[in-house]
Amino acid sequence: MSLCQQILQSQSEENPSRLSIEDALILYEEANLTDLMHVATIHRRLRVPGNHVSYLVDRNVNYTNVCTINCQFCSFYRPPGHPETYLQTTDQISERISQLEEIGGSRVLMQGGVHPDLDLEWYTDLIRELRKRHPSIELDCFSPIEIEGISEICGLPTKRVLEELRSAGMHGLPGGGAEMLVDEVRLDVSPKKGSGENWLRVMREAQELGLTTSATNVIGFGETNLHRLEHMEKVRDLQDEALSKDSTGFTSFISWPVMLENNSLGRRERGTNKYTLGTDSNEYLRHVAISRLFFDNIEHIQASWPTMGTKVAQMALFAGADDIGSTMMEENVVSSSGTTKTSASERELQLIVSRAGFVPVKRDSDYNLLKTKKIIEDIFSPPPTQPN
Ligand code: SF4
Repeated sequence: MSLCQQILQSQSEENPSRLSIEDALILYEEANLTDLMHVATIHRRLRVPGNHVSYLVDRNVNYTNVCTINCQFCSFYRPPGHPETYLQTTDQISERISQLEEIGGSRVLMQGGVHPDLDLEWYTDLIRELRKRHPSIELDCFSPIEIEGISEICGLPTKRVLEELRSAGMHGLPGGGAEMLVDEVRLDVSPKKGSGENWLRVMREAQELGLTTSATNVIGFGETNLHRLEHMEKVRDLQDEALSKDSTGFTSFISWPVMLENNSLGRRERGTNKYTLGTDSNEYLRHVAISRLFFDNIEHIQASWPTMGTKVAQMALFAGADDIGSTMMEENVVSSSGTTKTSASERELQLIVSRAGFVPVKRDSDYNLLKTKKIIEDIFSPPPTQPN
Protein backbone atom coordinates (compact mmCIF):
# COMPACT_ATOMS: atom_id res chain seq x y z
CA MET A 1 0.00 0.00 0.00
CA SER A 2 1.38 3.44 -0.94
CA LEU A 3 1.98 6.11 1.71
CA CYS A 4 -0.87 8.13 0.20
CA GLN A 5 -3.28 5.18 0.61
CA GLN A 6 -2.07 4.63 4.19
CA ILE A 7 -2.84 8.27 5.05
CA LEU A 8 -6.28 8.03 3.41
CA GLN A 9 -7.00 4.86 5.38
CA SER A 10 -5.92 6.38 8.72
CA GLN A 11 -8.05 9.47 7.98
CA SER A 12 -11.07 7.20 7.40
CA GLU A 13 -10.93 5.82 10.94
CA GLU A 14 -13.45 6.73 13.60
CA ASN A 15 -11.05 9.01 15.48
CA PRO A 16 -8.63 10.24 12.85
CA SER A 17 -5.49 11.95 14.13
CA ARG A 18 -4.71 15.55 13.19
CA LEU A 19 -3.48 15.76 9.61
CA SER A 20 0.09 17.06 9.48
CA ILE A 21 1.10 19.51 6.79
CA GLU A 22 3.44 16.85 5.31
CA ASP A 23 0.67 14.24 5.04
CA ALA A 24 -1.77 16.82 3.72
CA LEU A 25 0.71 17.67 0.97
CA ILE A 26 0.95 14.01 -0.03
CA LEU A 27 -2.84 13.80 -0.24
CA TYR A 28 -3.04 17.09 -2.13
CA GLU A 29 -0.59 15.91 -4.76
CA GLU A 30 -1.18 12.16 -4.99
CA ALA A 31 -4.67 11.12 -3.90
CA ASN A 32 -7.30 10.77 -6.54
CA LEU A 33 -10.21 13.17 -6.23
CA THR A 34 -12.83 10.48 -5.64
CA ASP A 35 -10.92 9.06 -2.67
CA LEU A 36 -10.32 12.53 -1.25
CA MET A 37 -13.99 13.45 -1.50
CA HIS A 38 -15.01 10.17 0.10
CA VAL A 39 -12.75 10.68 3.14
CA ALA A 40 -13.71 14.37 3.38
CA THR A 41 -17.37 13.28 3.53
CA ILE A 42 -16.53 10.97 6.45
CA HIS A 43 -14.97 13.94 8.27
CA ARG A 44 -17.95 16.15 7.44
CA ARG A 45 -20.28 13.62 9.05
CA LEU A 46 -18.04 13.42 12.14
CA ARG A 47 -18.05 17.19 12.59
CA VAL A 48 -21.52 18.02 11.27
CA PRO A 49 -23.69 14.90 11.60
CA GLY A 50 -26.91 14.56 9.68
CA ASN A 51 -27.93 15.27 6.14
CA HIS A 52 -28.64 18.97 6.33
CA VAL A 53 -26.79 21.75 4.51
CA SER A 54 -27.14 25.25 5.91
CA TYR A 55 -27.58 28.60 4.18
CA LEU A 56 -27.87 32.21 5.26
CA VAL A 57 -30.32 34.85 4.05
CA ASP A 58 -28.19 37.97 4.01
CA ARG A 59 -27.17 40.98 1.98
CA ASN A 60 -23.79 42.33 0.98
CA VAL A 61 -23.29 46.07 1.18
CA ASN A 62 -20.18 47.58 -0.40
CA TYR A 63 -20.43 51.04 1.16
CA THR A 64 -17.48 52.55 -0.74
CA ASN A 65 -15.17 51.61 -3.61
CA VAL A 66 -12.52 54.15 -2.62
CA CYS A 67 -9.33 52.30 -1.71
CA THR A 68 -5.66 53.07 -1.36
CA ILE A 69 -4.39 49.48 -1.28
CA ASN A 70 -4.40 48.63 -5.03
CA CYS A 71 -4.45 44.83 -4.85
CA GLN A 72 -3.55 43.47 -8.30
CA PHE A 73 -6.47 41.04 -8.36
CA CYS A 74 -9.08 43.69 -7.49
CA SER A 75 -11.25 45.28 -10.18
CA PHE A 76 -13.65 46.84 -7.67
CA TYR A 77 -11.65 49.65 -6.10
CA ARG A 78 -11.08 53.14 -7.44
CA PRO A 79 -8.28 55.34 -6.11
CA PRO A 80 -9.27 58.54 -4.25
CA GLY A 81 -10.21 61.30 -6.70
CA HIS A 82 -11.21 58.89 -9.51
CA PRO A 83 -14.48 59.99 -11.22
CA GLU A 84 -16.11 56.57 -10.56
CA THR A 85 -15.67 56.61 -6.78
CA TYR A 86 -18.72 56.41 -4.52
CA LEU A 87 -19.58 56.48 -0.83
CA GLN A 88 -23.05 55.40 0.25
CA THR A 89 -24.99 57.44 2.80
CA THR A 90 -26.55 55.97 5.96
CA ASP A 91 -29.99 56.27 4.34
CA GLN A 92 -28.86 54.39 1.23
CA ILE A 93 -27.37 51.59 3.34
CA SER A 94 -30.43 51.49 5.56
CA GLU A 95 -32.70 51.18 2.53
CA ARG A 96 -30.72 48.14 1.38
CA ILE A 97 -31.11 46.59 4.84
CA SER A 98 -34.88 47.22 4.73
CA GLN A 99 -34.97 45.21 1.49
CA LEU A 100 -33.19 42.40 3.33
CA GLU A 101 -35.72 42.54 6.16
CA GLU A 102 -38.52 42.21 3.60
CA ILE A 103 -37.19 38.80 2.51
CA GLY A 104 -36.64 37.53 6.07
CA GLY A 105 -32.86 38.05 6.18
CA SER A 106 -30.79 38.13 9.35
CA ARG A 107 -27.32 39.43 8.47
CA VAL A 108 -25.60 42.23 6.60
CA LEU A 109 -22.05 41.77 5.42
CA MET A 110 -20.67 45.24 4.86
CA GLN A 111 -17.23 45.87 3.45
CA GLY A 112 -15.60 48.35 1.15
CA GLY A 113 -12.18 49.75 0.37
CA VAL A 114 -9.68 51.44 2.65
CA HIS A 115 -11.00 55.01 2.48
CA PRO A 116 -8.37 57.59 3.48
CA ASP A 117 -10.81 60.26 4.71
CA LEU A 118 -13.29 58.49 7.00
CA ASP A 119 -12.53 58.69 10.70
CA LEU A 120 -13.59 56.29 13.43
CA GLU A 121 -16.61 58.43 14.29
CA TRP A 122 -18.01 58.01 10.75
CA TYR A 123 -17.97 54.23 11.24
CA THR A 124 -19.31 54.18 14.80
CA ASP A 125 -22.10 56.66 13.92
CA LEU A 126 -23.06 54.48 10.97
CA ILE A 127 -23.17 51.27 13.03
CA ARG A 128 -25.08 52.93 15.88
CA GLU A 129 -27.71 54.32 13.50
CA LEU A 130 -28.11 51.01 11.64
CA ARG A 131 -28.41 49.17 14.94
CA LYS A 132 -31.19 51.56 15.96
CA ARG A 133 -33.10 51.28 12.68
CA HIS A 134 -32.61 47.52 12.19
CA PRO A 135 -32.28 45.95 15.67
CA SER A 136 -32.77 42.35 14.53
CA ILE A 137 -30.12 42.38 11.79
CA GLU A 138 -26.60 41.12 12.59
CA LEU A 139 -23.98 43.58 11.36
CA ASP A 140 -20.79 41.85 10.20
CA CYS A 141 -18.68 44.74 8.98
CA PHE A 142 -15.21 45.80 7.87
CA SER A 143 -12.53 43.24 7.08
CA PRO A 144 -9.17 43.40 8.90
CA ILE A 145 -7.53 45.67 6.30
CA GLU A 146 -10.34 48.22 6.76
CA ILE A 147 -9.88 48.02 10.53
CA GLU A 148 -6.18 48.70 10.01
CA GLY A 149 -7.05 51.66 7.78
CA ILE A 150 -9.36 53.15 10.44
CA SER A 151 -6.69 52.59 13.07
CA GLU A 152 -4.15 54.49 10.99
CA ILE A 153 -6.50 57.45 10.51
CA CYS A 154 -7.60 57.77 14.15
CA GLY A 155 -4.24 56.85 15.67
CA LEU A 156 -5.73 54.20 17.97
CA PRO A 157 -4.62 50.55 18.11
CA THR A 158 -6.75 48.14 16.06
CA LYS A 159 -8.11 46.50 19.21
CA ARG A 160 -9.44 49.85 20.47
CA VAL A 161 -11.06 50.42 17.06
CA LEU A 162 -12.75 47.02 17.32
CA GLU A 163 -13.91 47.79 20.87
CA GLU A 164 -15.50 51.04 19.72
CA LEU A 165 -17.24 49.32 16.82
CA ARG A 166 -18.46 46.53 19.07
CA SER A 167 -19.85 49.07 21.56
CA ALA A 168 -21.67 50.77 18.68
CA GLY A 169 -23.37 47.46 17.88
CA MET A 170 -21.16 45.59 15.42
CA HIS A 171 -21.69 41.83 15.61
CA GLY A 172 -18.68 40.50 13.71
CA LEU A 173 -16.13 40.85 10.94
CA PRO A 174 -16.21 39.45 7.41
CA GLY A 175 -13.37 36.99 6.81
CA GLY A 176 -12.30 38.77 3.63
CA GLY A 177 -8.79 39.94 2.89
CA ALA A 178 -7.01 36.79 4.07
CA GLU A 179 -6.43 35.66 0.48
CA MET A 180 -3.06 33.92 0.92
CA LEU A 181 -1.47 34.48 4.33
CA VAL A 182 1.97 33.42 3.09
CA ASP A 183 3.92 36.64 2.54
CA GLU A 184 5.93 35.34 -0.40
CA VAL A 185 2.66 35.16 -2.35
CA ARG A 186 0.71 37.89 -0.57
CA LEU A 187 3.25 40.68 -0.97
CA ASP A 188 3.64 39.87 -4.65
CA VAL A 189 -0.06 40.49 -5.45
CA SER A 190 -0.93 43.00 -2.69
CA PRO A 191 2.30 44.72 -1.63
CA LYS A 192 0.46 47.47 0.28
CA LYS A 193 -1.70 45.04 2.23
CA GLY A 194 1.18 44.09 4.47
CA SER A 195 2.03 40.80 6.10
CA GLY A 196 -0.50 38.04 6.64
CA GLU A 197 0.35 38.40 10.35
CA ASN A 198 -1.66 41.66 10.37
CA TRP A 199 -4.83 39.85 9.24
CA LEU A 200 -4.26 37.18 11.88
CA ARG A 201 -3.61 39.76 14.61
CA VAL A 202 -6.82 41.72 13.90
CA MET A 203 -8.82 38.47 13.82
CA ARG A 204 -7.24 37.38 17.12
CA GLU A 205 -8.23 40.71 18.69
CA ALA A 206 -11.77 40.43 17.30
CA GLN A 207 -12.12 36.92 18.71
CA GLU A 208 -10.84 38.08 22.12
CA LEU A 209 -13.67 40.65 22.08
CA GLY A 210 -16.25 38.00 21.25
CA LEU A 211 -16.92 39.22 17.71
CA THR A 212 -18.01 36.63 15.14
CA THR A 213 -15.31 35.81 12.59
CA SER A 214 -14.79 33.48 9.65
CA ALA A 215 -11.65 32.56 7.70
CA THR A 216 -11.22 32.78 3.95
CA ASN A 217 -8.66 31.65 1.39
CA VAL A 218 -8.25 32.68 -2.24
CA ILE A 219 -6.26 30.30 -4.44
CA GLY A 220 -4.80 30.55 -7.92
CA PHE A 221 -2.15 33.28 -7.56
CA GLY A 222 0.46 30.87 -8.90
CA GLU A 223 1.24 29.62 -5.38
CA THR A 224 2.36 26.07 -4.61
CA ASN A 225 0.25 23.48 -2.82
CA LEU A 226 2.59 23.90 0.15
CA HIS A 227 1.75 27.63 0.28
CA ARG A 228 -1.94 26.72 0.41
CA LEU A 229 -1.33 24.36 3.30
CA GLU A 230 0.83 26.93 5.09
CA HIS A 231 -2.13 29.32 4.86
CA MET A 232 -4.39 26.67 6.38
CA GLU A 233 -1.86 25.96 9.12
CA LYS A 234 -1.79 29.62 10.19
CA VAL A 235 -5.58 29.62 10.41
CA ARG A 236 -5.62 26.29 12.28
CA ASP A 237 -3.00 27.55 14.78
CA LEU A 238 -5.04 30.68 15.51
CA GLN A 239 -8.15 28.56 15.92
CA ASP A 240 -6.31 26.36 18.47
CA GLU A 241 -5.33 29.50 20.35
CA ALA A 242 -8.92 30.85 20.27
CA LEU A 243 -10.44 27.58 21.46
CA SER A 244 -7.89 27.31 24.28
CA LYS A 245 -9.17 30.70 25.52
CA ASP A 246 -12.81 29.57 25.29
CA SER A 247 -13.48 31.86 22.35
CA THR A 248 -15.61 30.49 19.54
CA GLY A 249 -12.86 31.33 17.06
CA PHE A 250 -13.65 31.08 13.36
CA THR A 251 -17.13 29.81 12.59
CA SER A 252 -16.12 28.54 9.16
CA PHE A 253 -13.55 28.28 6.38
CA ILE A 254 -14.41 29.46 2.87
CA SER A 255 -12.16 29.22 -0.17
CA TRP A 256 -12.55 30.29 -3.79
CA PRO A 257 -10.34 30.85 -6.83
CA VAL A 258 -9.02 34.28 -7.76
CA MET A 259 -10.97 35.95 -10.56
CA LEU A 260 -8.84 37.28 -13.41
CA GLU A 261 -11.04 39.58 -15.50
CA ASN A 262 -10.41 43.36 -15.60
CA ASN A 263 -7.44 43.36 -13.27
CA SER A 264 -3.68 43.68 -13.56
CA LEU A 265 -3.10 40.16 -12.18
CA GLY A 266 -5.15 38.67 -15.03
CA ARG A 267 -3.18 40.72 -17.54
CA ARG A 268 0.12 39.27 -16.32
CA GLU A 269 -0.13 36.12 -18.41
CA ARG A 270 -2.10 37.51 -21.33
CA GLY A 271 -0.23 36.99 -24.58
CA THR A 272 2.05 34.36 -23.06
CA ASN A 273 1.60 30.59 -23.11
CA LYS A 274 1.96 30.33 -19.32
CA TYR A 275 -1.12 29.25 -17.39
CA THR A 276 -0.14 29.42 -13.75
CA LEU A 277 -3.00 31.65 -12.53
CA GLY A 278 -6.53 30.64 -11.54
CA THR A 279 -7.85 27.15 -10.80
CA ASP A 280 -10.27 24.70 -12.38
CA SER A 281 -13.16 22.81 -10.78
CA ASN A 282 -11.09 19.72 -10.08
CA GLU A 283 -8.48 21.71 -8.16
CA TYR A 284 -11.14 23.66 -6.28
CA LEU A 285 -12.89 20.47 -5.13
CA ARG A 286 -9.53 19.01 -4.12
CA HIS A 287 -8.88 22.14 -2.05
CA VAL A 288 -12.28 21.97 -0.35
CA ALA A 289 -11.73 18.28 0.52
CA ILE A 290 -8.24 18.94 1.91
CA SER A 291 -9.57 21.86 3.98
CA ARG A 292 -12.23 19.61 5.52
CA LEU A 293 -9.55 17.04 6.43
CA PHE A 294 -7.07 19.65 7.68
CA PHE A 295 -9.44 21.63 9.93
CA ASP A 296 -10.23 19.35 12.82
CA ASN A 297 -11.00 22.50 14.84
CA ILE A 298 -13.27 24.46 12.47
CA GLU A 299 -16.75 23.08 12.23
CA HIS A 300 -18.10 24.49 8.99
CA ILE A 301 -16.72 24.41 5.46
CA GLN A 302 -18.56 26.54 2.92
CA ALA A 303 -19.05 25.89 -0.80
CA SER A 304 -18.71 28.92 -3.08
CA TRP A 305 -21.49 29.14 -5.69
CA PRO A 306 -20.74 32.72 -6.83
CA THR A 307 -17.25 31.89 -8.07
CA MET A 308 -17.62 28.21 -9.04
CA GLY A 309 -21.24 28.09 -10.21
CA THR A 310 -24.04 26.11 -8.64
CA LYS A 311 -23.10 22.72 -10.14
CA VAL A 312 -19.57 22.73 -8.73
CA ALA A 313 -20.91 24.09 -5.44
CA GLN A 314 -23.20 21.03 -5.32
CA MET A 315 -20.16 18.80 -5.92
CA ALA A 316 -18.40 20.57 -3.03
CA LEU A 317 -21.16 19.24 -0.75
CA PHE A 318 -19.70 15.79 -1.52
CA ALA A 319 -16.17 17.06 -0.81
CA GLY A 320 -16.75 17.98 2.83
CA ALA A 321 -18.68 21.26 2.60
CA ASP A 322 -21.76 21.51 4.82
CA ASP A 323 -22.87 25.06 3.99
CA ILE A 324 -23.91 26.61 0.68
CA GLY A 325 -23.25 30.23 1.63
CA SER A 326 -25.76 33.01 1.36
CA THR A 327 -28.21 34.95 -0.79
CA MET A 328 -25.91 38.03 -0.90
CA MET A 329 -28.49 40.08 -2.91
CA GLU A 330 -25.60 42.02 -4.43
CA GLU A 331 -21.86 41.59 -4.70
CA ASN A 332 -19.48 44.09 -6.27
CA VAL A 333 -15.96 43.06 -5.27
CA VAL A 334 -15.35 39.54 -6.63
CA SER A 335 -17.95 40.07 -9.38
CA SER A 336 -15.98 43.00 -10.84
CA SER A 337 -13.30 40.46 -11.72
CA GLY A 338 -15.40 37.96 -13.60
CA THR A 339 -18.31 36.23 -11.85
CA THR A 340 -21.73 36.72 -13.37
CA LYS A 341 -24.16 35.43 -10.76
CA THR A 342 -23.97 37.50 -7.59
CA SER A 343 -27.35 36.97 -6.01
CA ALA A 344 -29.49 33.95 -5.19
CA SER A 345 -32.97 33.78 -3.76
CA GLU A 346 -33.66 31.62 -0.72
CA ARG A 347 -35.63 29.32 -3.03
CA GLU A 348 -32.60 28.91 -5.33
CA LEU A 349 -30.35 28.01 -2.41
CA GLN A 350 -32.90 25.47 -1.19
CA LEU A 351 -33.07 23.97 -4.68
CA ILE A 352 -29.28 23.75 -5.03
CA VAL A 353 -29.11 21.89 -1.73
CA SER A 354 -32.08 19.56 -2.18
CA ARG A 355 -31.20 18.65 -5.77
CA ALA A 356 -27.85 17.45 -4.45
CA GLY A 357 -29.73 15.17 -2.04
CA PHE A 358 -29.43 17.20 1.18
CA VAL A 359 -31.94 18.98 3.39
CA PRO A 360 -31.63 22.80 3.28
CA VAL A 361 -31.72 24.55 6.66
CA LYS A 362 -31.61 28.29 7.26
CA ARG A 363 -29.03 29.61 9.72
CA ASP A 364 -27.79 32.88 11.20
CA SER A 365 -24.30 34.36 11.04
CA ASP A 366 -23.18 32.23 14.03
CA TYR A 367 -24.43 29.04 12.37
CA ASN A 368 -27.37 28.67 14.76
CA LEU A 369 -30.03 26.81 12.81
CA LEU A 370 -33.24 28.82 12.34
CA LYS A 371 -36.81 27.87 11.72
CA THR A 372 -36.81 27.13 8.00
CA LYS A 373 -39.74 27.94 5.80
CA LYS A 374 -39.84 25.24 3.17
CA ILE A 375 -40.20 27.18 -0.06
CA ILE A 376 -39.69 24.27 -2.44
CA GLU A 377 -41.58 21.03 -2.65
CA ASP A 378 -39.59 17.98 -1.64
CA ILE A 379 -38.25 16.81 -4.98
CA PHE A 380 -37.97 13.29 -3.65
CA SER A 381 -41.62 13.00 -2.75
CA PRO A 382 -43.75 11.10 -5.28
CA PRO A 383 -45.39 13.25 -7.97
CA PRO A 384 -49.11 13.96 -7.52
CA THR A 385 -51.37 11.34 -9.07
CA GLN A 386 -52.50 12.34 -12.53
CA PRO A 387 -56.25 12.17 -13.24
CA ASN A 388 -57.18 9.49 -15.81
S1 SF4 B 1 -9.28 43.87 -2.47
FE1 SF4 B 1 -9.97 45.29 -0.89
S2 SF4 B 1 -8.08 46.17 -0.10
FE2 SF4 B 1 -7.56 45.28 -2.08
S3 SF4 B 1 -7.79 46.95 -3.55
FE3 SF4 B 1 -9.75 45.83 -3.50
S4 SF4 B 1 -10.96 46.96 -2.04
FE4 SF4 B 1 -8.85 47.57 -1.70
